Formats: sequence, structure tokens, C-alpha cells
Amino acid sequence: MKYIINDVRPNDNINEKEYFGFPIDPVLEAEQKLASDRTASVAYFSMEYGLAPSVYHTFKGKDPVDPRNIINSHEVFSNLQTMDSYHYLQVHKLLDMPIYSGGLGVLAGDTLKSCADLGISLVGIGILWSRGYFKQKFWFLGGGQFPEELAWDPNSYPGLVPTDKMVKVDLGKESVILKIWKYFVYSYDLKKVIPLILLDSNIPENKEYFRQLTGRLYRSDNAWWKAVQRMILGIGGIKALDALGYKIDLYHLNEGHAAFAFLERAEGLPKDELKKLEDRFAYTCHTPVEAGHDRFAMKDLKELLSDGKMKLLKELAAEGKRKETANLTLLCMAAAGHANAVAQKHGEVTRIQFPEFKEKIKSITNGVHTYTWLSDPVGALLKKYKKEIGDWENDPTLLANVAKLKADADFRKDLWQAHNENKSSLQEMLPYWMMKGEVFTMAWARRIANYKRPSLALQDPERLLHMARTIGPIQIIFAGKAHPADDLGMTHMDEMLKKIASMEGDRKYIRLIFLENYDTYFGKVLSNCVDVWLNNPLPPFEASGTSGMKAILNGVVQLSTLDGWVVEAADKGIGKIFGYVPPEGHIGTENDLRMAEDSEKLYQDLEELAKQYYKTVYDRDFNNSPWIDMMINCIATSAYFSTHRMVREYQEKIWS
Ligand SMILES: *Cc1c(COP(=O)(O)O)cnc(C)c1O
Repeated sequence: MKYIINDVRPNDNINEKEYFGFPIDPVLEAEQKLASDRTASVAYFSMEYGLAPSVYHTFKGKDPVDPRNIINSHEVFSNLQTMDSYHYLQVHKLLDMPIYSGGLGVLAGDTLKSCADLGISLVGIGILWSRGYFKQKFWFLGGGQFPEELAWDPNSYPGLVPTDKMVKVDLGKESVILKIWKYFVYSYDLKKVIPLILLDSNIPENKEYFRQLTGRLYRSDNAWWKAVQRMILGIGGIKALDALGYKIDLYHLNEGHAAFAFLERAEGLPKDELKKLEDRFAYTCHTPVEAGHDRFAMKDLKELLSDGKMKLLKELAAEGKRKETANLTLLCMAAAGHANAVAQKHGEVTRIQFPEFKEKIKSITNGVHTYTWLSDPVGALLKKYKKEIGDWENDPTLLANVAKLKADADFRKDLWQAHNENKSSLQEMLPYWMMKGEVFTMAWARRIANYKRPSLALQDPERLLHMARTIGPIQIIFAGKAHPADDLGMTHMDEMLKKIASMEGDRKYIRLIFLENYDTYFGKVLSNCVDVWLNNPLPPFEASGTSGMKAILNGVVQLSTLDGWVVEAADKGIGKIFGYVPPEGHIGTENDLRMAEDSEKLYQDLEELAKQYYKTVYDRDFNNSPWIDMMINCIATSAYFSTHRMVREYQEKIWS
């Protein structure tokens, strides 16, 4: 049998016509462009990718999928504890390739998808995490989370194929061999693709210990481990591009994890060549938290990196009085000719943190991939009104035209109907927990991190109860994982589960649900199917945030603090904005989360929203409902927060 795709061994799922049920021509075309000198191509490096194939462009393979790649159920922790112990939330879905932990990965996945839609010649580089991030289980008795090993099978994962290429990365006296896999990200119309290459150390050529290097994402046991994972991505990534024969014009580092890629390319170059190389590197910074920047002791890296790389590192990344620390953010800022933050506000914060690179740091606000995160009912509605909106399926930024439909009585009624269809699918997903369609429903779902203040809405259960009794019942759904080494995150988790359990007696008025094992599948269902999306990070620590963008696309009203992307949408009538705002030019610390004052403000706005919602439900006067106005504003605003707009900005401001 012959190779159809370069370097990919013959496979039952690949033939002259098809790649796992999708047309193969776009794959061959993309490979050709990447190998050609005539096309300008970008290599995009990211530690994680959230591709959500369970909800978008699911490949069809001929072989049975290993049961470890299928999810059948999730545990539920609610204030209906008798249900929790007898029932699971039943699903039957493909496990979303577990090579991401949160928003950074989802953004990388969405970026590849929009690049495919826009026909850009780009290749993604990442790591095949053989043990994923981790699996979250509840500790029902004590309330809390414990991590479980996650197992999946790359060999039977639809769309993922091994190549016959390997590369070697030197780690001081030793070295690790990396196998290269390929996955292809298709455009909306299946006419174009972006290849994603994934590096894997879990092969018999490596000793047992090294096979675990690409095991768990963000394993943080020690500095050696962290440094080696970053070397695999950066140095291994460059070597893989060369081994596959891709001709790359621009290297884009999504966050500082891949910083060593620059050292690999730059080592041994004369000064003038080095300057030219800088122009071919771009860096996107996602972290407004000082502690979030990767730092290593120079003496530790000396054990791992060649003398040539150490020399460059000392010139570009040295920090502290005695220059004993290497800061990878500094390395990226100094080495990359182009740098950007991920929202306007985040740009301001980053320029304060890195004044010496102030001129270089641009702001390109994040987005989400419209077609992935759009629900079926709202999608069908927008298709029905295509004449008024324009060909948004070709260009999602046309969704801004939804604003023109504000006075259209049919559209308003249809939108309410579509939203209620979404809500019924949420009810169907949780049959035993007796969710009600016409009950005011809010969700908070994201990584459990301290600055995101996951437990803010649960600060005062009495207050919530009073609200539910006087205005109308309320359902709140939570989901999120705390990194097992994040003690503060685990504390929030404990507090939330304990508060939820403590409200068992109030279940008639308030239904509180925490869903186990938040993933991109839930990321879609929850952001699509509730009335209000809650986003309450402590400003200015949310660089951008993207889950709210998924929600507005589906007409889900926002209740948010003034941070990240929301700053740019706060005057668009998409919901209520509340809480602490830091003084101009001031960053502050995460030590004081302002829980008491901000939860009070949250409750005030939540009451207002609940009143408006219930008025729409009872009056059914859709033409005069401010709630429906907000829903329409949300969809119109989502036009801007699309990765299509974002990728076009990258093209104009950086890649070209
Ligand atoms: C969208 C998404 C995120 C990002 O959420 P933020 O609100 O930006 O933190 C994280 N995890 C999953 C699974 C998602 O789908």
C-alpha cells in the first residue's frame, strides 16, 4: 500500500478520496503548501489544544474506538444529594482529545479552526499528552475534589494518525526520542485544513521514565520536569517541522511555553542573521499574573541546554541582580519581533509589567470559533434570517447585523423559542435533578483558579434563598477543575461543594448543581443553554476570558465583572457589569479577593436580572421585553469576538 499523506503510513481510514470520512484533497493541498517555498507559512506552537471534536466535525473511523475514548457518564454533586448517589448524568460522547486544561488550549483550537476557514497556510505544533490533564472525581463525604488518572488511546482516536518520523531532543547527557503524530483540523465547509503535529515520548525507544515526559499536562513536580516539557515543545517542535520538510516563514509562540524554539533556531547564527530571525518570531502573552511567568534557575538549565543556547538565554532572559534566573516571558518579549496581549485591558497591564517592551506590545483581543460554539437551535434561527443578516456562514462577523432585527416581532419570538429549545436540552441532560425549563438558570463554568473567584455566588446562601423566595426560583450550575497542586483552587472547590450540600433543605427554591469533569463538551452545553452566564474574576487578572463569548453568541445574557474582553463589550447592553475596578494604572494583588463587597454587588444585579427574566416569562410580551433586547445585543456583539476577526488581525498586524 502506498502513502497517501506524506510520512503517514497506510491506514484503513485514509484512501484516495477520504480521510476518516472527510474529503482528503484539502489535506494534500495543505501539506503541499507547507512544503513549498512559494507559500508563506506560519508555525503555531501551543502547549495545549482544545479541539472539541465531540461537538464539531467529529471524524468517522472504520475501526471500533477504544472504550477509553468514549465518555458515558459524569457524576453530579447537587443539593439533591439522594439523586447524586443513585444516578449519573448519562451521555454518550467521544472524549475530547485530552490535550488541554482550559481557555489557552480552547483558544489554540479555535485559532486553528478559523485559520482553516480563512485558508491560511499554518501548521499547529503541540504535545500528545498520553495521560491528559487529569480526571476529576468528587469526594462526596468530605466535599472536595480528588484527581484520578486519565487513560485514553491515541491509536484508535478518530482523525489522529502516527507518522513514521521521529526526532531527538538532547537533555544534557541524555536525550529523548519523540514520535510525531498528525491530526487535521477541517474548515467549516470541509474544503480546507490545518495540520496539527503532536509530539509523543511514550514509545519503547525511550526508557520508562522518559516515556512519562509527555504524560500529564502541566505536571509540576519539579523544575527539571517543567523545563524538559518546554524543551520538548520548543526544540522538539522546530526539529519536527524540519523533519517533515515544512518551510516556515513565521513562528508564533502561543504563550511562553515554547520559548526554547527561538534558541533552537538562533543557536550559532551571526549577529545580523539573529536580528532577521527575531522578525520571524511572534509571541502572544496570556498571563497578567507575575507569578504565572515561567522562571528557571540558570544553573538548572545549564544541565540541559547546550552552551550556545545558554549564551543566548543569558543575553535575553536573565533576571534578578545576579542574573541567576531565566524568565521565559522575558525571553519571548526580547526575542520575538512581535508581541501581543489578548485584550485591550490586558495590553495596558502587560505594558506596565514590561515597560522596556512597551512599544512592541500590541493588543489583539481573543475570540471564539463561531461554528464550534453556536448551538443548533440558534444556528437554525440565524440561517432562517440569512437574508437580513447576510452570509454569516461565510463571514461570522456579519452577525453584527442581527442588531437590525431588533424591531422584528417574529425574530424576537423565534429567538425566545430557540433559547428555550436549548434550555430543554439541559433539562434532558439532567433528568433526575428535575431542572425546570421556565426557571431562571445561571451557570459558572471554567478552571477553578483563585482569581476567578469560583465561590463568589455562594458567599451568602441566605441571601440567595431570600431572592429565590421573593422573585422566583433559581437554578445554578457550576463546573470546573482545580489543578491538583493549586491549594487555593482546591479550597474554593471544597467551599463550593460544602455550601451546595448545606442547601439541601432549600432545594424547592434553589437547585445547585456541580458537574464533574468540566470539558469542552460541557463548555458548549452550559454556555449555550442557560439564561445568564456568570463571570466574576477579580480585575485585572483575567487576561481575556472566552467562555462568555460562547454564551453571547447564543444570546445568553452576561453577569460579569469589568475585566478581560468584557471591558470592550461593557457598553453594548449584553447584561449587567458589577464589582471592583482597580484604579487606572494599578495592578494590585490577588491576595484580597474582595469576596464580601463583590458578592453583595453580584446579588443586587442578579436580583435585577431575575426580575427582568420572570417578567418576560409571565408577560410573554416579547416586543417590549428588555430581556430579549439584551439577548439580541449579545448575538450582535459576538460578531466582534470571533476568532475570524482575531485571526485577520494577526494576519494584518503580525503575520504578514
Ligand atoms: C471556553 C472554555 C474555557 C475558557 O473559559 P474562560 O471563561 O475563558 O476561563 C475553559 N475550559 C473549557 C472546557 C472551555 O470550553
